Amino acid sequence: KSVIHENGSKRKNIVILGSGWGAVTLLKHLDTSEYNVTIVSPRNYFLFTPLLPSTPVGTVELKSIIEPIRSITRSTKSQVDYLEAECTDVDPHSKRIHIVSNANNYEMDLEYDYLVVGVGAQPNTFGIPGVMEHASFLKEIPDAQQIKSKILYNIEKAASLHEDDPLRKSLLNFVIVGGGPTGVEFAAELRDYVDQDLNKWMPSISKEINIVLVEALPNILNMFDKKLFNYAQDLMMKNKIDLKLKTMVKNVDGNIITAKIGEKIEEIPYGLLVWATGNGCRPITQNLMSKIPEIQNSRRGLLINKKLELLGAEDSIYALGDCTFHPGLFPTAQVAHQEGEYLGEVFHKKFLIDQLQYTSKQNNGANAELIKKNDFKIKKLQSKIKDFEYKNQGALCYIGSDEALADLAIGESKLRLSGGGLTFLFWQSAYLAMCLSVRSRMLVAFDWVKLHFVGRDSSV
Ligand code: FAD
Ligand code: NAD
Repeated sequence: KSVIHENGSKRKNIVILGSGWGAVTLLKHLDTSEYNVTIVSPRNYFLFTPLLPSTPVGTVELKSIIEPIRSITRSTKSQVDYLEAECTDVDPHSKRIHIVSNANNYEMDLEYDYLVVGVGAQPNTFGIPGVMEHASFLKEIPDAQQIKSKILYNIEKAASLHEDDPLRKSLLNFVIVGGGPTGVEFAAELRDYVDQDLNKWMPSISKEINIVLVEALPNILNMFDKKLFNYAQDLMMKNKIDLKLKTMVKNVDGNIITAKIGEKIEEIPYGLLVWATGNGCRPITQNLMSKIPEIQNSRRGLLINKKLELLGAEDSIYALGDCTFHPGLFPTAQVAHQEGEYLGEVFHKKFLIDQLQYTSKQNNGANAELIKKNDFKIKKLQSKIKDFEYKNQGALCYIGSDEALADLAIGESKLRLSGGGLTFLFWQSAYLAMCLSVRSRMLVAFDWVKLHFVGRDSSV
């Protein structure tokens, strides 16, 4: 790949960290003939997270919701390099990063002109003892695989025990902590699986399974309108999901959760524990924060301005998605996606500005008229780099038994839909439309059709 443009100017290096919603959307909107683009991510595929809660019970197959990075870079305008590695250090002063590849056993430094940080977040345990050791999370593909294996193990192990054995009851207690959309969608999927599939093969075990959803606040799904979360709560209780509200987990050991309900302490036994209490910063995010005085006291993520530039490194580092904290921008795929689109446009305008500056410099004062014209064009382009504006399109959430919530924003007005086949159909259509590729869309649609005729594939 050429490191210079046809006019002799040097191509600038953009290094993008991550292969998630923010990074991949940027890649799709970047004119890759304008820069040397390198993607660094330990995950060599994009993951369509909205359908991840459907995978541990086999409603949707894991392969249907991933898209290899190589298949994305294959269709970019110009060559993009991908390195299957993790960024472990950023030096904003020398504009270098250090990367380590555990998969391919190498480490190296990379130089950048622009760094885009889209490393997402990791599950937040709030430092609660025992969570890291005993809980499963629901953030990545291996998490979903682990939950699936545990469900199957517990069911088979319980089936081998006598009905009066206390271990049997404990193994079949499936507890989910966190009543945000991740916890709710997974609880709903689990209930569907138990009632619709397991019930046919192991009727007695399926009746003994107890699904508990634990939430510290008085309600689940707090980001939704009150009418909608009340609807979801009623449906979940009707579906025999044991909702434990105002219940704050304080400690986890090998098979018991200790929670505080007001002043009362309650012990909840579990066989499977899924922890879904939101996002925390990744080590690389903390590393970067510690390097820049303007952001080193931030606790919730990288602080960015309205142009998505990192405070304290505005000339060279951009950040987007779940690794950032900006009031009014939530850690959702929708936000990361729009930020990726926005940055694609920004980099195009920056390229045009660079080219004009280069031509002026080459001219070396010989043609004053040309330099004046270029300065005018540069100012015009700079004024066109507007602030990022998030357009909230609303939120969707699956709540079980083919029912969903839709809290939609249509211009200035709101449309709130709860339950019913139509909302569920809308939920399905919206997620299909959001899938990154035709391949993924076809596979997910096929999984849903298959579910209708032959049920879930819950083998490992
Ligand atoms: P991610 O998509 O998480 O990508 C981060 C990338 O960075 C990954 O590729 C990771 O491997 C890589 N990375 C990590 N560390 C490093 C490192 N050190 N160096 C280089 N790369 C690194 N949002 C919605 O809007 N709608 C939904 O329906 C929805 N459903 C969800 C369901 C679940 C189960 C979950 C967990 C989240 C859901 N979200 C949803 C939230 C959404 O997934 C996130 O907001 C979105 O993924 C954020 O995008 P991102 O690019 O910031 O991070
Ligand atoms: P969340 O932050 O939305 O919810 C976490 C919940 O856990 C909160 O309600 C919190 O009160 C509770 N909690 C925290 N500590 C607790 C404790 N010790 N004991 C009991 N409860 C505790 O987290 P999430 O559901 O993982 O979602 C993360 C992000 O991803 C959010 O921005 C969310 O909007 C987005 N997301 C969206 C969708 C969707 O749109 N359908 C689906 C999944 C995730």
